[in-house]
Amino acid sequence: MREGADRLDIELLNGFRYACQPSCGLCCFAQPRVEPEERPELLRIAPATEFVESGGASFLRANLEGGACQLLHGSRCSVHSARPHPCREFPVHVQLGPRLQASLVLSCPGVELSSLAETESYSSRSAPLGFDSELQAVRERIDLGSTRRMKEAERRRGRIVQSLEREGRWVDEDAVRTDLRTRLPFPEPEDFPAEDPPTASEGLELLPLYFDGRAGPVALAEELGGWEALELRASGGVERHLGRVPPPTVPPKLDPEAQRSLSGYLRYFLERDLLLASVVPRMAESDVGTVTEWVEEELRRIGATVVSRAVVRAKIGGAVGERLSRREVESGIRASDQDLLDVPTWGDRL
Ligand code: SF4
Ligand code: SF4
Repeated sequence: MREGADRLDIELLNGFRYACQPSCGLCCFAQPRVEPEERPELLRIAPATEFVESGGASFLRANLEGGACQLLHGSRCSVHSARPHPCREFPVHVQLGPRLQASLVLSCPGVELSSLAETESYSSRSAPLGFDSELQAVRERIDLGSTRRMKEAERRRGRIVQSLEREGRWVDEDAVRTDLRTRLPFPEPEDFPAEDPPTASEGLELLPLYFDGRAGPVALAEELGGWEALELRASGGVERHLGRVPPPTVPPKLDPEAQRSLSGYLRYFLERDLLLASVVPRMAESDVGTVTEWVEEELRRIGATVVSRAVVRAKIGGAVGERLSRREVESGIRASDQDLLDVPTWGDRL
């Protein structure tokens, strides 16, 4: 095992089961990062592979019409044995911070969401099932470089904490979690309408995506008068427009099972290091509010995003009852989680 790999905290995977759905391909509607040492094998199998450079790193270019990775053929990866690390590790997501914390990208339809509604702590749940090769890929990448990046992240965090302490706004992460676990903040009327997704013209790969059994994933885009659902083609571009509906402007009613599912999701988010690591730097740009208040507001915003996307998905699918069901809330979680993880933090991803 590489140095530091034993520090990987996988508690947030406990209770989850996973099996990749090969007909899906959702995670390939992206531009994965490629490390220099991964390039030669990739180019041996696919010599015409094109890269885009950004911020000192290389990424696989998406199809020219936008959407999927250029190496996705049909719903299959054409360089499977040489695919870069984000593809090997998905749906495991690792945040570098005070610990190397692994959590799951719950947009992946291969991850079962039923355990979200279980209320016991992650440490007392059963061991995760089905993540062996993804965790192995993560552990192989943990090295001295990750330890150095964690220390740098800690220094950045330390500077922000000091200034928040001076202003009397700092609350220790454990205290924030202990407090909010007992009173999870649900979205309120003022959290609606939820933030719109980007427009399709900004780039198809930027849109929130979900898999609903179609040949290509469905993307949500802001459109005049509502949110539009677009079925994407693996070869790039939009296959068809599925409909446009306005997002809710007041919180929809949830049946009790749906509430449990939403609570479970918010609890999961609260335990992710990424949540505090993304909130704290934003606090530094403001001069009001404690860490607890900011996290509380962020959880309400996350809840509003999930239920809004659940409503839009349900309406596009032609099924909207009086109340949102657990299944519909889960579909909102699937349509939101990947975007909600993609935020700047004082740390870094592995
Ligand atoms: S999103 Fe999940 S289920 Fe779909 S192809 Fe990727 S890993 Fe498999
Ligand atoms: S390299 Fe393969 S697995 Fe990775 S995004 Fe592209 S097609 Fe998907």
